Amino acid sequence: MKITPMLQQYLDAKERYPDTILFFRMGDFYEMFFEDAVTASRVLGLTLTARNKGDVDEVPMAGVPHHAASGYISGLIESGFAVAICEQLEDPAQAKGIVRRDVVRVITPGVVMDTESLDARASNYVAAIHMGKDTYGVAYVDVSTGRFHVTEAATLGELASEIGRIEPREILVNDVEAASALEGRWPGSFLRRRDAAFFDARNLYRAAQDAIRLEREMAADGFFMDRKGIEALVTGFAEFAFRDPERVRGAAFAVLRYIVDTQRGIPSHLRPAEPYHIREFLIVDASTKANLELTETLMGGKRSGSLLSVIDKTLTAMGGRTLRHWLNYPLVNPDTIASRLDAVDEIVKRTSWREDLRGHLANVYDIERLCGRISSGTANARDLRSLLSTLGAIEPIKHELNSATSKGLVKLNAGIDPFTEMRARVDGAIVDAPPVTLTEGGIFRRGFDADLDELIELTENGKDWILRFEQKEKERTQISSLKVRYNKVFGYYIEITRANLESTPDDYIRKQTLANAERYFTPELKEMEDKILGAEDKRKSLEYRLFEALRAEVAGHVAELMSSAQNLAELDVLVGFAELAVRHDYVRPTVDSGDAILIEDGRHPVVERTLSEGRFVPNSVEIGGDEPFLQIITGPNMAGKSTVIRQVALITLMAQMGSFVPASRAHLGVVDKIFSRVGASDNLARGQSTFMVEMTETAHILNNATRKSLIILDEIGRGTSTFDGLSIAWAVAEHLHDVIGAKTMFATHYHELTELVRTLEGAENLSIAVKEWQDDIIFLRKVVRGQANRSYGVQVGRLAGLPPTVVTRAKEVLSNLESVQFDERGVPLAGRHAGRAPQVTLRNNPDQLTLFSGSALSPAQEAVIDSLKTTDVDALTPLQALNLLAELKQKLE
Ligand code: ADP
Ligand code: MG
Repeated sequence: MKITPMLQQYLDAKERYPDTILFFRMGDFYEMFFEDAVTASRVLGLTLTARNKGDVDEVPMAGVPHHAASGYISGLIESGFAVAICEQLEDPAQAKGIVRRDVVRVITPGVVMDTESLDARASNYVAAIHMGKDTYGVAYVDVSTGRFHVTEAATLGELASEIGRIEPREILVNDVEAASALEGRWPGSFLRRRDAAFFDARNLYRAAQDAIRLEREMAADGFFMDRKGIEALVTGFAEFAFRDPERVRGAAFAVLRYIVDTQRGIPSHLRPAEPYHIREFLIVDASTKANLELTETLMGGKRSGSLLSVIDKTLTAMGGRTLRHWLNYPLVNPDTIASRLDAVDEIVKRTSWREDLRGHLANVYDIERLCGRISSGTANARDLRSLLSTLGAIEPIKHELNSATSKGLVKLNAGIDPFTEMRARVDGAIVDAPPVTLTEGGIFRRGFDADLDELIELTENGKDWILRFEQKEKERTQISSLKVRYNKVFGYYIEITRANLESTPDDYIRKQTLANAERYFTPELKEMEDKILGAEDKRKSLEYRLFEALRAEVAGHVAELMSSAQNLAELDVLVGFAELAVRHDYVRPTVDSGDAILIEDGRHPVVERTLSEGRFVPNSVEIGGDEPFLQIITGPNMAGKSTVIRQVALITLMAQMGSFVPASRAHLGVVDKIFSRVGASDNLARGQSTFMVEMTETAHILNNATRKSLIILDEIGRGTSTFDGLSIAWAVAEHLHDVIGAKTMFATHYHELTELVRTLEGAENLSIAVKEWQDDIIFLRKVVRGQANRSYGVQVGRLAGLPPTVVTRAKEVLSNLESVQFDERGVPLAGRHAGRAPQVTLRNNPDQLTLFSGSALSPAQEAVIDSLKTTDVDALTPLQALNLLAELKQKLE
């Protein structure tokens, strides 16, 4: 194929950015070639054309107008592609030979600076995982907000649940094998493989240096970090006790490297990496998060109907993101939890104070993302005004906080800078309602810059002069319709309609002829035009330069702005918690390091809102501590089993976030992990309702839960046949009880499981009360002790109109089934254990205890057992067997 120099340039750029769609700037269009053109035309519905059409060298091509590019780019990003923008680096008119071009920026799903295309209340992370033998370094950054975190995971399971709560849009991995192990684990995250060099610091510094060089060449100034700046981002966690700090550093370098490659530099608003240990937070793995509908509903993946949507009373986008973060990272230390609760408590108690704070917070813009735009040089004058309005709200907020007494609020207040000087500076500079564009002037106030004032004077005076000139010429020519006007092509002109042409003075020089008018100028007008236009051009470019300088000045304070922003965001969340508590009658929980969970009159925070006021029936739950820690909850379909177990998990989680909870009293021992599983057939909405998934998830719980965990199991074992399912459920419950000792609530329709309490010391039966009334079952929604009446299924069948003969027969079969459930000691047959004698406490069935306990076998019974033990069955003929049977029977009688 014959390659033109331009195509060669394209191919060179493409070689450096192989896994992107390359937007190649040609005049007013971005063009794509080869496979990129084919892909883009398929994804975006563009027309596929060809360069050198009809030739043997035909090259597929597709293009989009550059001014409409952002929509097309978003379209590609949403489908998981990365887009590299290759710009013309010189004016084509002045270029000798082929125009120089280079990639100035790459937009990928995880690295988006264009905040319009982002959800304001969610973070947009790109993560890097540096896999080692037995640790995984993890680093993730949201470039739009500058937030940067690092941690490490010890196992693949831990890594999976951590990635599940980070929700990165893109993940960089070092290891090909590991990458395939991770593939498809997190829908919505795009996995990218990178070689070892990508995780290396030297390569990062080199790339950053190149980027700075390019930036200089493009005459953009100093928004990117140099090597020193980058080192400062990662040295902060050198002291942090990671097991394998090198892995973590590697992950940090890789994620930064990816930003260099995409943004062509590290934007200066990036904050130093915040290190943490996964275990410093309550662990909620991905499927638990999904089952509990923490951030989105199971059905349809909507935010509305999730826990987040009902507890979010924040007023700022930053607060919204922080709340989401707190939801994903609840605390486990009772002291830090108490400190948040103290703050909420104070805000709850001071009603008018709370309202004042809310009023001020409503004026706070998204400082983090504003800072992103400021430090990447894309902020316009309106962005600085938004910043200003935010800074204007800070002073009154600090004023209010000065009277705070809780430690948490006092600390937040100390971390918020009023930025008095910067505020005065920007306010004195930029007019109240500046234009969106930066190139047309009109940005600055008078008095900000003397040179600018002079130019403004000249242009405005010039305009007055034109008005006077028009008046003067009207008088001289006696043409009342004479106009002096301006247009971009012809400049200033005097316009005389065709009807008045005869009165045109001789000194007018013709400029342009229209259908019904002639346009003229005079030397005097021309001279003024030069002055005005010169001044205007100068003004525009001066304003542009002044703005860039002001923006750079503000960019110099980005670090302080960002840390104040974080404190404001946390304040917003705490004020939001207080508002939530007041509006929905939540109570302050007591959180300690004990083992008991006690909730009096608890409500499900989401279900309660879907019902009309007062319709939700509160329930009290006591689990762990001195109470049994394994609860089997039975009750007919629709009784409210799923609701009550979820509500316990949600209340626990909310308390550990530092929020008040929907209950009349709550005393909670912190839990280290919450697990929630839903039996497969209850889980159709996720589109993966296989029994295998259910079992994988159950295995994950049994392998990861501890005595401090809270587990809620909803209809586990449902996805397979009854005997299978029941057996698994039984064994799982025993394991949780005997080996793990976690607080467990097990909602089940396997009535047989209620027999577990006969052998498990720490188990109890609960059920949800229903009442039969006339021909209906009334759901009372009240949790009561003891198991549900087994025959509800049959009764429901009767109510539904099954023929009476069928109902009667069903009752008969049921009692047959029930009659063979226990062995001679009252131990459920299902619970027999080959490896050890069942522990017979029968604590929940005192009647049977007196009947059977201590009762030894009769001598005859013993003799029968002995002879059975000594009989070699294989050696018996059928006749001998029959005789033996008769003999044994006789002995017993
Ligand atoms: P189960 O799991 O026993 O089949 P669910 O927990 O799914 O029952 O509850 C079924 C429906 O009953 C819920 O969707 C809700 O509308 C209602 N419900 C559950 N618990 C309560 C309650 N405590 N108060 C009022 N309504 C409730
Ligand atoms: Mg249910």
